[in-house]
Amino acid sequence: MPSGKLRDEIKDKKQAQREAAAKRKRIQRERQSALGIAIVEVSLTKGQRETLEINRVIRGGLRGEYGLDEYIETLIRRDNEQLEKQIAALGDCGKCKSSLPGGCDGLFKGDCECWHTFSYRELML
Ligand SMILES: [Zn+2]
Repeated sequence: MPSGKLRDEIKDKKQAQREAAAKRKRIQRERQSALGIAIVEVSLTKGQRETLEINRVIRGGLRGEYGLDEYIETLIRRDNEQLEKQIAALGDCGKCKSSLPGGCDGLFKGDCECWHTFSYRELML
């Protein structure tokens, strides 16, 4: 059992470590906030988490697994590239002749010539 003085020193050291950790965390949050970075929480099943972990490793190959942030950033970037190409190829709605994907905003949905009736599915994942 450490003596009273040693016990106080250990207690002070642990308190200083906690304060330093809290300060580091606060500085990190401020830095992220200044960059517009926000933490987003998602709910995943055990199976989805396993898939995520396995795919990060496989896709990283010999260079090493993708970091979680890097993996999600890459998926978002690649999906956005694909979506932009798809949108650029859409043209206008066959019914209202307005530019897509907005078109008539669903006013003619149900009309077989309206993009919102069937073709909107092309943009779904
Ligand atoms: Zn339409």
